[in-house]
Amino acid sequence: MTLVMKFGGTSVGSAQAMRDTAELIENTKDNWGQVVVIASGMGSKPVKVTDLLLGGAQAALDGDQQKYLDIAEEMRLVHFEAIDGLLDPEGERQAILAENLRFIEHYVALCDAVRVLGELSPRALDAISGMGEQMSVRILAAYLRQIGYKAEAIDATELITTDDNFQSANPLMDETRKLSTARLQPLLEANVIPVVTGFIAATENGVTTTLGRGGSDYSAAIIGQTLDADEVWIWTDVDGVMTADPRLVPDAQSIPVLTYREVSELAYYGAKVLHPKTMRPCIENDIPLRIKNTFNPGHPGTVIVANGQGK
Ligand code: ADP
Ligand code: ASP
Ligand code: MG
Repeated sequence: MTLVMKFGGTSVGSAQAMRDTAELIENTKDNWGQVVVIASGMGSKPVKVTDLLLGGAQAALDGDQQKYLDIAEEMRLVHFEAIDGLLDPEGERQAILAENLRFIEHYVALCDAVRVLGELSPRALDAISGMGEQMSVRILAAYLRQIGYKAEAIDATELITTDDNFQSANPLMDETRKLSTARLQPLLEANVIPVVTGFIAATENGVTTTLGRGGSDYSAAIIGQTLDADEVWIWTDVDGVMTADPRLVPDAQSIPVLTYREVSELAYYGAKVLHPKTMRPCIENDIPLRIKNTFNPGHPGTVIVANGQGK
């Protein structure tokens, strides 16, 4: 049985959140056998790493070097604190610190280029904004290895091919299916947990793209479709899809079962709990989609199905 699970920004937003996430992966691994993890960039609300990256890129365009250097330092602190809190010094801690630092240095180099050129293209924005996912998956995969699993961090640029509609790229599914199965199936058969970046992908020429803000949900559905997954689970910070945004309506209720159509409508009218394209791959392959709360995993959350009968 194959389960694809996506963990949102808050679910990987701190050392403790990553520990909780790893525990959920452990629990499901026993029952499902083959588990693929998709992760967002770290995002302890209200600060999301993706927002920091984009804010820094804009500062670079504005010529504000100090601001993007400050942001780089803030990102370093967020990631280093998580790494120090999770990884043993005698294990992979130093290697993962160094890997994360390389991404932050690369980020600063890209911002320098934007500042000097005075130009910030959608393509540059995708290269910059996807780094949060590249950093978080390396931390989470290393932690899973530390607690005894075989796990490998994978950049979805290796798995998902898109057109060059930067910032809201569209997957080319034939090519994506080939790449994704060729890379992931051998790992799953060898009992390795792939820990894949959400949000990012690449053009046929290997240029990094993104699937749009909140796109990690869509990444999970795309990967789920390529692997003919039995279910796709989206782990977030609320008890599933609610009757209203719980940030605005405190007594909003969790909805146990919804159809694809109902969720598409909710997303269309602005319910920001799922990326609106997430349903498409699931509809095509009739894959049930569950939304669950990392911080309240006993709650059943919401299951989204074709016909509303539940599964
Ligand atoms: P993640 O980082 O896990 O992807 P998001 O912030 O993208 O999290 O989505 C989850 C958030 O969506 C919740 O914290 C909630 O505030 C907001 N939200 C908006 N509308 C709804 C809704 N109808 N049901 C549930 N959550 C909603
Ligand atoms: N990290 C990306 C964003 O903030 C993608 C996601 O979280 O789904 O938009
Ligand atoms: Mg989201």
